[in-house]
Amino acid sequence: MAPKHGLAALQAEEKSAKRVKNSETPASRSATPADITGKVPFTVHYPQMNSKRKLSKKEQELVNHAEFQESPFVAKGAAKKGELDQHYTVTPFKEWDAMKKYNNFIIQGETYKNHHFVYVRGEDTPKGNVERDKDFWVARILQVRAINPQHVYALVAWMYWPEELPPPKTKTTDTVNSISGQRKYHGSHELIASNYMEVLDVLSFAGKADVEHWKEEDDNLTSKLYWRQTFCRETQELSALRKHCICDGYFNPEIPMLICDNPDCKVWLHEECLLDSILTKTCERLLGPEAEDAAPAKTNGRKTKTGRKPWKGKFAAHINAEEGGSHTTVTITDLRSNSEGPKTWTERVSCLKCDALLE
Ligand SMILES: [Zn+2]
Ligand SMILES: [Zn+2]
Repeated sequence: MAPKHGLAALQAEEKSAKRVKNSETPASRSATPADITGKVPFTVHYPQMNSKRKLSKKEQELVNHAEFQESPFVAKGAAKKGELDQHYTVTPFKEWDAMKKYNNFIIQGETYKNHHFVYVRGEDTPKGNVERDKDFWVARILQVRAINPQHVYALVAWMYWPEELPPPKTKTTDTVNSISGQRKYHGSHELIASNYMEVLDVLSFAGKADVEHWKEEDDNLTSKLYWRQTFCRETQELSALRKHCICDGYFNPEIPMLICDNPDCKVWLHEECLLDSILTKTCERLLGPEAEDAAPAKTNGRKTKTGRKPWKGKFAAHINAEEGGSHTTVTITDLRSNSEGPKTWTERVSCLKCDALLE
């Protein structure tokens, strides 16, 4: 079972164990050329292992056949150790147990092994090779079993594109829209690892995917696709990420941040937060009491909850960070038509945490 686009459809999903791209196309992505019905004969269940209530015969049977899966995804900000580990049961038991386990298999000359990431093809996926990553789903192979060379099945853990995440249970300010759980810090090549599992016919695989585990150290990403965060099936929560800046916000690797050069500080700062602070100070300096009226209460440089920007429409600024050898500077423009004094000027930029000038 997998969270689909706008998890409001959780109930619908209980009925259809297959992952669906969105509510408009509730078709199985595990449809394969070999099986036009799109139905894989195996279903993954998550049995109630330590249930206090009396289980039904069927539930008890699932418990009796349960296996334990240690998740290959351990996020840096996991809520607890082994957060994504879980018991699961594949039905029908007899047929699943009767199959032989394999360490690898070959499709169209490509060898796949346990722990490899794969692109998974569905009914909506264009034919041919992987051109647009997001036409595909991405999964990680956990186990391979086969009846014969024509019937090879893989137990996989799903990876999700950010836009496929369900909206958060408690509202946050950093969601991109109201219909998904995509956050502003998610990059366009980012995947979220999960412990939603499914059995797929390996003929739905469209090739190996190169997915890197990015640990959010002060490093650069080398691979095109990456994951740093997990989504837990049981809690429906994303794992925590490294916090940056004075806003305690996160890093979107596609939006550059500035680092403070003070060796005792080394904080990473959002350009947006720097500009907001610089322009708020400019307002206070040049407008005096007028700015005080418009400005929100002092919050130690932090943006207020209301997000009021006293400088809006009055001043604008951009950071000049990439000039070879010179210091980081900011160019400020006075947008007011009735103002005296310079229309545009350049200043050094200081750290929002320790006040040191940025190099
Ligand atoms: Zn910030
Ligand atoms: Zn600093």
